[in-house]
Amino acid sequence: MSSNDNHKGEGHIHTHQDSPCWSCRGSVDQRAPFCHACGMIQAPRPGDEFQRLGMKADFDLDPKDLEKRYFAFQRKFHPDRFATKTSREKQLSLQHATDLNEAYDRLKAPLSRAEALLESKGAGKQDQARTESDPELLMEAMESREALADAETADEVAKLEARTRMEVEVSEEALSVAFAADDLEGATNIVTRLKYLLKLLQETSRKRLSLHN
Ligand SMILES: [Zn+2]
Repeated sequence: MSSNDNHKGEGHIHTHQDSPCWSCRGSVDQRAPFCHACGMIQAPRPGDEFQRLGMKADFDLDPKDLEKRYFAFQRKFHPDRFATKTSREKQLSLQHATDLNEAYDRLKAPLSRAEALLESKGAGKQDQARTESDPELLMEAMESREALADAETADEVAKLEARTRMEVEVSEEALSVAFAADDLEGATNIVTRLKYLLKLLQETSRKRLSLHN
């Protein structure tokens, strides 16, 4: 915990802009899905996935907390609550529900959570494209693909799969360390490697299943 944490927290922050409620014209915090004055549902505003779930932008999150927040928001936008409302309100609730599902899915998996966090911190896709041509990673990918092609029995493939799974876990831990140190370049490199590892994991399990049949 650094002393910075207070400023990035989840509460209302003064730098956020307010905009008028479309129904009562009262002023609403841009991140609030409902008007503070009249309770009317607002159009979803631009924001990142962490904001949608009211969470601090952090790689290390408590999956139970994430789930709890997701279900709480989901209840607020549930179609049953809008059954007797106007079509505009129905439509807005549907947009919120869709955004919410997307945000939850993205934050749930470590790789996409890391990508969401890099985006929210302004580390763009160009940085990722640059790391994809890293010669060391390309070499590693080539060697793994060769080893997979050479593996002839399900046992051999299972061993490769187990090793890859372990590498995935190690990479996810390294991501946590990199983000904790605010090392965005390091995190970007790990994201690129993790993408390749997860693809390799898919390929190994596909081959293992095909050898079983
Ligand atoms: Zn209002």
